[in-house]
Amino acid sequence: MARLVYCNGAFVEEAEAKVSVFDRGFLFADAVYEVTAVIGGKLVDFAAHLARLRRSLTELDLASPADDDRLLALHREIVHRNALDLGHVYMQVTRGAADRDFVWPARDTPPTLVLFTQTRATLEPREAETGIRVALAPDLRWGRGDIKTVQLLYASMAKSQAKARGFDDVWMERDGFVTEGSSNNSYILSNDGTITTPSLGRSILPGITRQAVLRAASEAGIAVEERAFTVAEAQGAREAFITSAGAFVTPVVAIDGVPVADGRPGELSRRLRRIYLDEAIRSAI
Ligand code: PLP
Repeated sequence: MARLVYCNGAFVEEAEAKVSVFDRGFLFADAVYEVTAVIGGKLVDFAAHLARLRRSLTELDLASPADDDRLLALHREIVHRNALDLGHVYMQVTRGAADRDFVWPARDTPPTLVLFTQTRATLEPREAETGIRVALAPDLRWGRGDIKTVQLLYASMAKSQAKARGFDDVWMERDGFVTEGSSNNSYILSNDGTITTPSLGRSILPGITRQAVLRAASEAGIAVEERAFTVAEAQGAREAFITSAGAFVTPVVAIDGVPVADGRPGELSRRLRRIYLDEAIRSAI
């Protein structure tokens, strides 16, 4: 069965899904998106994804394509129509199509709304077991990493270059401090048992998985500190890990070729992955 895509008001086979060449998502990356994990055919952390979408729209003065109930209904329908059990729903909203101009078009320009699904083979891929090895790259992205825009070229370039050098992913750094991964938030476990992750601000994305994992860690009595950490701190940490709607919680076992502790996935990272997934499955809608 060909995958069905939602495109501006209709569910169509993917080869039939078309957006104008004048779409501002295409010409200016003038668009925001969300990726929601689907487990057992249900949406994970959906309310939080919608809240972040609303924030991204507001920050860029983008018109909303639909209300929350409609967006939930569309997510459920696309999962159902594609018989998606495990994977995710990608949703993108652009400022719509208008003659090319740096100035935003009139606010009544209809936004473009696209949703599609992607499947994943397993909840427990190899990296969850082995951990990943990250390269380092300077964080050369624009200064509003807190808005989830489709302007992902630098992250894509940095990850591709890291892959070509034999790494699994990349951690980006600014002024000696780790900001985040190519498409995930970054964490270390210090030797005193504290989880440290960069505090929210303009330089990182407020990850939905981050929010859930920090809540779960606090509930489990684990100390959490939100502050910038250096590359040297990370390389000398007891554990390191990443979070995202795709990776959930995945251990990092080496940073720029330097093993983290004994170079094997840490116990706490594995435990947090289990806690996160249990809660994600329990609360999915
Ligand atoms: N940071 C960046 C730059 C991302 O692109 C993503 C997800 O795509 C994340 C962090 C993790 O966010 P979430 O947990 O909402 O998937």
